[in-house]
Amino acid sequence: MIELSLELDSYKDKGARRRLVEELQQKGIVDKQVIRALNAVPRHLFIHKDFRSHAYLDKAFPIGDGQTISQPYTVAYQTQMLHIQKGEKVLEIGTGSGYQAAIIAEMGAQLTSIERHIGLHESAKKMLDQLGLKANLLVGDGSSDLANELGPFDKIIVTAGAPKVPMSLANQLAISGTMIIPIGNEKEQIMHSLIKKPNGEFEVIPLTKFRFVPLIGEQAW
Ligand code: SAM
Repeated sequence: MIELSLELDSYKDKGARRRLVEELQQKGIVDKQVIRALNAVPRHLFIHKDFRSHAYLDKAFPIGDGQTISQPYTVAYQTQMLHIQKGEKVLEIGTGSGYQAAIIAEMGAQLTSIERHIGLHESAKKMLDQLGLKANLLVGDGSSDLANELGPFDKIIVTAGAPKVPMSLANQLAISGTMIIPIGNEKEQIMHSLIKKPNGEFEVIPLTKFRFVPLIGEQAW
């Protein structure tokens, strides 16, 4: 459980966070564990202090290196679609600010998260450590088979837009595991859910439209 001083997480921050979570519930977020984690993780600590007063708006913000912290609704939606259970092995591609990673770690999953920008990786690692959240954060190309020997994973979440499903990731998914990944062009993507069937084939379910920064790498853009 995250415990912070009032200086780091004030009553004003907690109140704003609660109102944001209520807004997300009105937008269709119903999973109790996701709602609990959204209320527990202080989003304002994952973005630049100049944006602190806007941290609990349902908006994406720049985090440096031309990247963004995803909109809270997107984080909540992707997490809800994964149905994460305590103790499950989860792989995230695109650590970015570390906010999504903190939500997954707070839900009790065994998380591995990969980021290609070392600066973002380092600040995310520092913040997760400060919050007392356990996660294995790696630097590199998450579209490759970098985390292969740590798998198979029960759940995989890709937080950048891919041109197609990277087979290296599909191969790291456990039987009955789920991957959530935005697929499309550089302007717009459709979120897809992939479930690995016992025969090794995938059930592919297209969901709704989103807009992400591009997934860049060996099996990406
Ligand atoms: N999950 C992040 C958060 O909570 O802040 C949002 C991430 S941002 C929308 C997408 C991230 O994916 C960026 O930080 C970007 O550098 C990273 N990324 C893009 N391609 C990647 C790749 N092949 N491997 C690892 N990270 C990648």
